[in-house]
Amino acid sequence: MAAPFTSDLAAHLAPDVLARLDRYARMDTQSSRGRTRSPSTPGQLELARMLVAELAGAGCVDATLDDNGYVTATLPAGGYAPGGDGPGPAREDTIPVIGLIAHMDTSPDAPGAGVEPIVHADYDGEVIKLPRGGTRLDPASMPELAAKRGHDIVTASGDTLLGADDKAGVAEIMAAVAHLGAHPELPRPTLRIAFTPDEEIGEGATLFDIPRFGAICAYTLDGSELGELQDETFSALEAIATITGVDVHPGQATGRLVSALALAARIVAALPSDRLTPDTTSGREGFIHPYLLNGTAARAEIHAILRDFDERLLDGHRALFESTARSIVAAAPGATLNLDVHRQYRNMRQYLEPVPFVAQAAREAIRAEGLEVRNVPIRGGTDGSRLSEMGLPTPNIFTGGHEFHSVREWASVHDMAAAAATIVRLAEVWTRPETVAAAAAATAPGGDGTGTPADRVAREPAGA
Ligand SMILES: [Zn+2]
Repeated sequence: MAAPFTSDLAAHLAPDVLARLDRYARMDTQSSRGRTRSPSTPGQLELARMLVAELAGAGCVDATLDDNGYVTATLPAGGYAPGGDGPGPAREDTIPVIGLIAHMDTSPDAPGAGVEPIVHADYDGEVIKLPRGGTRLDPASMPELAAKRGHDIVTASGDTLLGADDKAGVAEIMAAVAHLGAHPELPRPTLRIAFTPDEEIGEGATLFDIPRFGAICAYTLDGSELGELQDETFSALEAIATITGVDVHPGQATGRLVSALALAARIVAALPSDRLTPDTTSGREGFIHPYLLNGTAARAEIHAILRDFDERLLDGHRALFESTARSIVAAAPGATLNLDVHRQYRNMRQYLEPVPFVAQAAREAIRAEGLEVRNVPIRGGTDGSRLSEMGLPTPNIFTGGHEFHSVREWASVHDMAAAAATIVRLAEVWTRPETVAAAAAATAPGGDGTGTPADRVAREPAGA
C-alpha cells in the first residue's frame, strides 16, 4: 500500500519536485578535480541557465548567472498581516533576508553522463534490480531503503549516479520557491537563492560573494535522511607526503638504490589499519585516509585526508601521519621527505553556536512538517562548512537522497516532497516575531557582538 505523504503540502509539491529532479538529473553536470576555471565543466552552465529561466518564471526578481557559474535570485517577501504587531507575522521591515543554497554539480567519483532516472512507484520492499551494469539495491544491506516501503523511489539506470546529490536539493528549493511565488499570501521573508558549482571538488564556496548575497544566514539542502538537520561537520586537512629516493640502474643498485616507491608503501603500511581508518570508524570518530599513492623509485607521493570533529584530535592525526612518514624516511639515508599539510574546511559548529536561532528555525520548520528532528554530525563537509567559516552561518537540511556518489544512488519522492514542504515552513518560521527578535538581538550593533555576515567577513577574512 502506498505510504502517505508527510503533509498535504508535501503531497501537493511532490509531482513538481519529481519532475524537476528528472529534468535536472538528465543534464551532465559532473565537476572535475584540478579545475583551471569556475565552473570546472561546461555542463554546469547549461543547468545554471535553465535554473535562471525557471527562477524568473517562478516570480523571482534579478535571477542571474555570474561569471563564475553561480546562480542567484531573490524571491520578494510577502504574506504579512497588516500592522503586524502582536500575534501573527512580524512587521515586514524587521524581517531579515534568509538564504537557500544547493549545488548544481555532481560527484566525479561515479559516471555522471547519460543519467536516465527510473521511478519505482509504491516500492514493495524487495531488491531493486536496475537494467544496466547488474546494479542491485538490496534492502538487506540498506536499512534506509528498507524503511521506505510504499514510497516512490527514484534511481538511475545502474551505470551512472543519479545526482540526487544535490539535484534533489535544487529541485526542492525550486519547487518551494515556485509554490511561494504562486501564493503571495503565504508568509515569508525575502529569500535569496543560490545554486553553486563545483561543491563536489571542494570549491562551491570559494567564489561565493557573501556581501552581495546579503542574507544573515542560509540553509543548504544537501543532506540525506528525512528530518536531518546538520549543524556540525568534520574539520578537514589534506596531507601530501612527497618522498625523493636515490634512483640507480637496478643492475648497479647494490647498496645504493633507495626506492621512494618502497618507502611510500611502507609509510602507508605503517599507518593504523584496525582503527583510525574510514572503514573502522563511525559516529564522531575521526580518521587518516591515504587515498592516492603514486610513485617511481625516484619519487613518490602519498595523498591523505585527515578528519575529525575535534580540532585537538585532528592535530593528533596530523602528528601521527607526519611522525610515521618522518621516521621511515629518516631510516633510509639519501631519501628526503617533503610534507605539505593544508586546511580544507573546519567544523561549522563553532560558527553556528553563537547564532543558535539559525539552526533553531530549521528545527521548528522540520517539526512544523510533522517530522522528528535528527541532529546528525556530517562525516564530511558541505558548502555550509566553508560558508559558515566565511561569515554566512549555514546549517544543512535533509533532501531524501541516499547512497551518494555511486551507481546505487536513490531518493524517496515522499521525502523529497517533505524537504520542499519544510522549506515553505521555514519561510513562515522566519516571519515569527520570536525568530525575528532573536536574530535582531544577535546581529544588531551592540548586540551579542556576532554582527552581520558582512561584519564578520570584514573582521575575519575568508580562508584564514
Ligand atoms: Zn552534495
